[in-house]
Amino acid sequence: MESVLLKSACPHDCPSACALEVERLSPTRIGKVRGGRHFDYTDGVICAKVARYAERVHHPDRLTQPLKRKGSKGDGSFVPISWDAALDEIANAFEVASARHGSESVWPYHSGGTMGVVQRWGLDRLRHVMGYSGEKTTICIGPSEPGWRAGVGRLEGTDPRHIAQSDLIIVWGGNPVSTQVNLMRHIQAARRDRGARLMVVDCYRTPTVEKADLPVILRPGTDAALACALMCVMLEEGLADQDFLTRYTDFGDDVERHLRSRTPAWAAAITGVDEDTIRTLGRTIGETKRAFLRLGFGFTRSRNGATNMHAVTALPAVSGAWRHPGGGAFFLNLDNWGLDTTVAHGLDAKDPSVRVLDQSRIGAVLTGDPHALLGGPPVAAMLMQNANSANVAPESGLVRRGLARTDLFVAVHEQFMTETAAFADIVLPAAMSFEYDDIYYGLGHTAITYGPRLLERHADCRTNHEVVCGLAERLGAEHAGFGMSARELIDRTLNDSGLGTIARLEEKGYVERPPTISQGESWEGFPNADGRYRFRPDWSALQMPGWDLPAASMPAIVDYWDVIEQASEQTPLRLVAPPARMFLNTSFTQSPSSRAHESRPTALLHPDDAARLGIEDEQRIVLGNPRGEVQLHARIASRALPGTVVAEGIWPSRDHEGGAGINQLIGSDPVLPAGGVAFHDSAVWARPVLGDAS
Ligand code: SF4
Repeated sequence: MESVLLKSACPHDCPSACALEVERLSPTRIGKVRGGRHFDYTDGVICAKVARYAERVHHPDRLTQPLKRKGSKGDGSFVPISWDAALDEIANAFEVASARHGSESVWPYHSGGTMGVVQRWGLDRLRHVMGYSGEKTTICIGPSEPGWRAGVGRLEGTDPRHIAQSDLIIVWGGNPVSTQVNLMRHIQAARRDRGARLMVVDCYRTPTVEKADLPVILRPGTDAALACALMCVMLEEGLADQDFLTRYTDFGDDVERHLRSRTPAWAAAITGVDEDTIRTLGRTIGETKRAFLRLGFGFTRSRNGATNMHAVTALPAVSGAWRHPGGGAFFLNLDNWGLDTTVAHGLDAKDPSVRVLDQSRIGAVLTGDPHALLGGPPVAAMLMQNANSANVAPESGLVRRGLARTDLFVAVHEQFMTETAAFADIVLPAAMSFEYDDIYYGLGHTAITYGPRLLERHADCRTNHEVVCGLAERLGAEHAGFGMSARELIDRTLNDSGLGTIARLEEKGYVERPPTISQGESWEGFPNADGRYRFRPDWSALQMPGWDLPAASMPAIVDYWDVIEQASEQTPLRLVAPPARMFLNTSFTQSPSSRAHESRPTALLHPDDAARLGIEDEQRIVLGNPRGEVQLHARIASRALPGTVVAEGIWPSRDHEGGAGINQLIGSDPVLPAGGVAFHDSAVWARPVLGDAS
């Protein structure tokens, strides 16, 4: 068979949702993977980890058959079992749990291992039909989403392709050089074609900061203080767009007085950015009307993350950049899709009275925290798809304790024997994206991309959809979606959404879903009921019903909120745990080229801190706090701020001497107002491992 080039899409939890071009060498093998040129956002460019996707698809460690635990939970010893027997055991466990504790004691759980509309979220159909506990997927977007909604309203913004018309691009809290290469291509084109300048705000010198014309390094979690001071400069120096403020925002004398009190001197003391720099940045933003603000997740992964996001979104409301070509802000598209997933996700069977548990609090849920369980029954049985919570969720020691419960049944449907799978009673081998049909939301752009099945199944792997349907049959769950193929569900979803058919999608490879928020010169106001941006957010309205989080304690007017986990005498460093370039959470931690590039678990420390703590470059060190201890190797460089330690990437725990991964140190207390994780907001101590110089 001759090799062919086929259109596909990236299934990973990355806003780029790239269109791909895949070289198929045979019905079971792929060769090169490139960026698809058929979609202009991707335009031929993808990241290095997916360019080497053949390593992942054909990895010798992929799971090949269903397995049943024979040893203790977590020790990873299993025996093969047939698919029928495996699905029977899971269905039986769900029935036993439901009979003992009620249907809410079953918690189907999924995360971002695949982002497919059918294959990821189809588990919800089984959940809703059976009355199992709901899952609010907060781990990624928990703090940022309410922060954006608090001011702007809908979760969408200026089309990122408008960067081509921008004179200033501000990347705040993101590192696209490492994690979103497509975005950098658009930014570099604007720099080349119209001399646009790049401002990058982050809490350490990332590769993206290195490329900036205006690099800004601030203390982690202090972004709102910088944003407020930048607005103060614009107001003081007559650079605010008063007409815009009057017509399109709820700005008033009280907001102005408040922001004028947030002076550069005030912010300098909090952020560590000097006053002159703050003034220069404020002037630059105020004077450059074609300023595109591209917001990342990083600065929201903090206990004050929602207020950080809200404060930064206020910048173009003061400068008026929204109504200029190439101006405005963008974080994520979520409200523009207009997809009717009633059948695919079983929304017509959803009972709103069933409890919805916080995905991020899996440790607290599984260890019986009554607050995390919302006062309901314990979780007694789970099916986990695309989720490696033993490694990825915060306070991972607590998660492991929960997964090790002998009275908890866990089935894990996975591609590799992850740390979570090692705790399972039943492990099911999962197909990869090129082995099934699905569609993907482009959270960082405006298209739904199509990833058709290109390959025969690896070994005895099954898709998420097939597992869900197999369980539905055994449990007597009835819904039209269980009798449809993935392809039929895609077709039905497109049809129900007025977006044509799968045949049309196949031809083009994607469907455009333009933003519904007005753009540039066509600006008509914000997508709130009154068309106005809110400097005075209603945080309580953004809470999850029933979660009892004290949102009323959040700032009434845009502000810095001082609730971060401060350094102390016992824990003098602030830990930031951002993504590594060649991993995506724990996906790709199996790929040889990714592992070779990332080398080993590493902690970046400033030379002053290293000298004070007696730590040498490349030395093995321990980071610790009351949640646990984690071993890494020190890298000493002034890319880190004094007082900050940076540990990039989620390495499998076994790659850390001592066997504990970085999320052992991260708190799982919910971020206000709607849950989520403060991954960049932990205070730690650091010490060398005595006698170790490797
Ligand atoms: S940049 Fe993101 S969406 Fe694109 S190929 Fe890489 S992981 Fe996938």
